[in-house]
Amino acid sequence: MLDYRDGFRREAHPSFFSLEEMMNLRGRRDVSVEYDIAQICMNGHVVNRGMRQMPGANQNCCSKCGAPTIHKCQQCQADINGNRLMSGPGGSLITFDQPAYCPKCGTAYPWIVSKIEVAKLLIQETDGLEDAEKEKLAGSIDDLVKESPRTQLAATRLKKAAGKIGVEGLKVLKDTISDIVSNTVKELLWPTK
Ligand SMILES: [Zn+2]
Ligand SMILES: [Zn+2]
Repeated sequence: MLDYRDGFRREAHPSFFSLEEMMNLRGRRDVSVEYDIAQICMNGHVVNRGMRQMPGANQNCCSKCGAPTIHKCQQCQADINGNRLMSGPGGSLITFDQPAYCPKCGTAYPWIVSKIEVAKLLIQETDGLEDAEKEKLAGSIDDLVKESPRTQLAATRLKKAAGKIGVEGLKVLKDTISDIVSNTVKELLWPTK
């Protein structure tokens, strides 16, 4: 079993692992995967990625925005996944992705719920779209976030609407949506290549 400090040191220097080494770790069966518990504020600021390993960093309220912090799904009480420690014969790796949905019951975490709401409100505020278009587009936001078979359709809708929304409105909307969708969806919406 790997010493935590070792993992911490490696996290602080991600370049310690080559991409090849990381892929080797992922594909192997003799690799164990363990999650710590994350403490995150209601607005989505990550307060502590590893409550077990770093209990001293726990906070009842967020130091950035003052909102209360949670570390369990409010629907099913399952722990929120924090640092992921993958360890095996080839070494170990600590990674962290802020989760959007509870892996146990599928409920969206509060920070996702409120960002979806904000994105929908922003759409209502934009100039250049008919009310019916706004409705349709607001309805597409859920599909963009969830990555379902309807994601492609939702992306097409947003791209069509983008042509009609003013530059200012589009920038704000893009920032908000970028925060809540995956890289795959971002690439669909705003291809970089
Ligand atoms: Zn906060
Ligand atoms: Zn849950």
